[in-house]
Amino acid sequence: MPEKMEENSPWQTALTQFNNVSKRMNLPEDIHQILKHFSRILTVSVPVRMDNGSTASFEGFRVQHCSAKGPYKGGIRYHPDLTLDDLKALAMEMTWKCSLVDIPFGGAKGGVVCDPKKLSRGELERITRRYTYAIQPIIGPDIDIPAPDVNTNEQIMAWIMDTYSMNKGFCSPGIVTGKPLNIGGSLGRADATGLGVAYIAASAVRQNKKTLKGLNVVIQGYGNVGSAAGKFLEEMGCKIVAVSSSTGGIYNPGGLSHNAIIEHYRKTGGFRYFPHAENITNAELLELPCDVLIPAAMGGQITKKNAGKIKAKLIVEGANGPTTPEADEILSGRKIKIVPDILANAGGVIVSYFEWVQDAQCYFWCKNEVNAKLKILLERSFNDVYAFAQKNKYSLRTSAMMLAIKKVADVFTVRGLYP
Ligand code: NAD
Repeated sequence: MPEKMEENSPWQTALTQFNNVSKRMNLPEDIHQILKHFSRILTVSVPVRMDNGSTASFEGFRVQHCSAKGPYKGGIRYHPDLTLDDLKALAMEMTWKCSLVDIPFGGAKGGVVCDPKKLSRGELERITRRYTYAIQPIIGPDIDIPAPDVNTNEQIMAWIMDTYSMNKGFCSPGIVTGKPLNIGGSLGRADATGLGVAYIAASAVRQNKKTLKGLNVVIQGYGNVGSAAGKFLEEMGCKIVAVSSSTGGIYNPGGLSHNAIIEHYRKTGGFRYFPHAENITNAELLELPCDVLIPAAMGGQITKKNAGKIKAKLIVEGANGPTTPEADEILSGRKIKIVPDILANAGGVIVSYFEWVQDAQCYFWCKNEVNAKLKILLERSFNDVYAFAQKNKYSLRTSAMMLAIKKVADVFTVRGLYP
């Protein structure tokens, strides 16, 4: 019997998914035990001088799951509700993601409990620099390479790179990915996760002998990932009918123009009250009729409460962990296909890997080269997962996890256990 779990606890979800898949694939118990645990978890204090002269102390973390295949890799998240459990789930999922798409990294994740909306630019910079200093003993271009995640961006990566380089005494672009281009960033990195979501959506509909042309798409969370996915899906012929941010969303069954809604967001700081659409809540958005639903906001959005009401035919997970396992069961019972996060949003870490390779070589590629290589890796990974799922009658999620875990387990088998 698969283990049951509490809904909406990301770590419980990640661990139970791992336990269930490990049991199904008869993963050897010693490897199961190693992979269930973390190589290292660091909690740090981040004291910072605020603009009003006071000192505030923030809590920061870096979680490293498994480095069997290469350095740790994972984003840095700034969020007021961030917990260590969130980061453990995200770090473990990063291990599976890197393994699935065959890039030589292991999973990590980090962040600071703070609300960037309430911080000045100076405060944000000081938090970033002090946090970088605090985690410096366990990061490095060959050890652990951070990247952007929710509420962090290329400017924050630039501050991390500068702080690390100043402390080391030499310029070290390879310490982070998702950097600005002029300090060793890669062309195509900013849009890579969203472009990857679009490539994966195209691969998924191709299995039903269809194309993306004319399909209605709903996107929850029109941020970095969601808006890039929207832009590319619109270019590929889809109609984006609804989008949202944390403050709510908009819906027009006739279609929304990507450029027009981005312009509206720039002017007003949100999507609501866009003149050519109806205002809706994030809960309503998830239940809209559509061909493709892309959750691209936070984890735990599709739960047993709303899974029965979802009308999408295909879900492509742009966010990490947006669907709880109970919702997964309900959706698969309703024959709604889900492309799991570790495959659907792997474009970001793939191009991060390309950035790291370019930094190491001090030789930079053109955008077409980056995007073409991204497409090859993602399509190959999708085809492997799809073929495995068809052959074994498993869901795409179970198949993706089995393939990913098997590749990590094989590395342990060959490397053996030190000492
Ligand atoms: P982001 O901060 O740029 O965008 C997040 C969007 O979601 C924003 O529009 C925000 O307003 C919205 N949002 C936040 N809370 C919400 C809520 N409760 N309901 C609805 N909308 C909400 O972040 P991002 O980088 O686009 O990341 C989004 C998701 O994709 C996260 O789960 C992240 O872990 C995952 N992801 C990101 C990358 C990447 O390269 N940035 C790569 C892989 C996975």
